[in-house]
Amino acid sequence: MNTINEKLLDLKERKLFKLPLVLEGANEAVVSIDGKKVINLSSNNYLGFANHPKLIEASKKALDKYGVGSGAVRTIVGNMDIHEELDRRLAKFKREEAALVFQSGYMCNVGVIQAVVGRGDLIISDELNHASIIDGVRLSRAEKAIFKHSDMEDLENILKEKRHLYKDVLIITDGVFSMDGDLAKLPEIVKLAKKYNALTYVDDAHGSGVLGENGRGTVDHFKLHGQVDFIIGTLSKAIGVVGGYVSSSKEVREWLLNLGRPQLFSTSITPANAAAIIASIDILESTTEYTEKLWDNANYLKKLLKEKGFNIGNSETPITPIIVGDEAKTIELSKKILERGVFASPILFPTVPRNTARLRLMPTAMHTKKDLKAAVEIIYKTSKELNII
Ligand SMILES: *Cc1c(COP(=O)(O)O)cnc(C)c1O
Repeated sequence: MNTINEKLLDLKERKLFKLPLVLEGANEAVVSIDGKKVINLSSNNYLGFANHPKLIEASKKALDKYGVGSGAVRTIVGNMDIHEELDRRLAKFKREEAALVFQSGYMCNVGVIQAVVGRGDLIISDELNHASIIDGVRLSRAEKAIFKHSDMEDLENILKEKRHLYKDVLIITDGVFSMDGDLAKLPEIVKLAKKYNALTYVDDAHGSGVLGENGRGTVDHFKLHGQVDFIIGTLSKAIGVVGGYVSSSKEVREWLLNLGRPQLFSTSITPANAAAIIASIDILESTTEYTEKLWDNANYLKKLLKEKGFNIGNSETPITPIIVGDEAKTIELSKKILERGVFASPILFPTVPRNTARLRLMPTAMHTKKDLKAAVEIIYKTSKELNII
């Protein structure tokens, strides 16, 4: 325990120690923190589904029918009809042959990557891929090569040089990069994969429910159905609940039900969660009202920030960074605006490269234009005071 104490002290000395904020109530556009109302610009509850009455009602019904827990891992006796129904609904929504739900997006990456490649295979991964991909790659025991962010020349060079040395080669990318909001160059990646006989894997956590027709994701946005081998989504961001899933072929689903370790060794999501997710898909399939509101708010927020002269990077999605550069100033800005009623989390090295520290703003369908305008005014005033702008 002494080493842990020493390491904790070191973390505190380097000003990297943090404890999470405590929300007093639901995660909405305006949240309560320390008894104070604060405009929330940091949640992934893109469409407001975490608090949607239809999802709440569906959960309550499932609670009455199935109880609170599924009682076992899926492969023993924790596989209820509602879990099977959810997989089928997701496959249909994603316009892919099959889907399989995991307990979270993190678990899905960790479980799928290690089940589909191993010793003698190569994984080629974008340098900005999510931590859960990095962990999955480590567990797989495959060799790895990293390509420069969205750099297709670098990717092709690796393929040229290394493809022939391995049995299977898997190219992995985020669909939407979570710190900058830019999209993967999926059409080019798919083309290169075909040319060099490699498999493709897209983690679309921030694309699901946001991009494509009715929020079907990045693969739908680029019209690449049937051309990406593994499409990962999360059920905890736009979908509003919890869980992750892979959409792929029927054979991949069956393989993962046998060899995907989280399916074998961790209890399935609760039936009430499954019911809420199905209700979420019902809404997405029946209306574009929420995705349209999200994009409308995102465009409005970006316009206001640009008018004020902020550097908001090259986002192509609602993820809106305010790039400050200096780490200490970014932390100071985040603290001061919180005191004044806006929460936007600071993103620092090593999550982003040095000297690109930023606030990351996440507008949602729930925000009013008034919320967004008020938040921008507070951020602008505070940035002026801190000589950020
Ligand atoms: C959020 C996120 C995950 C993890 O999803 P959870 O459902 O929260 O576990 C995985 N990959 C990416 C790219 C993410 O942004």
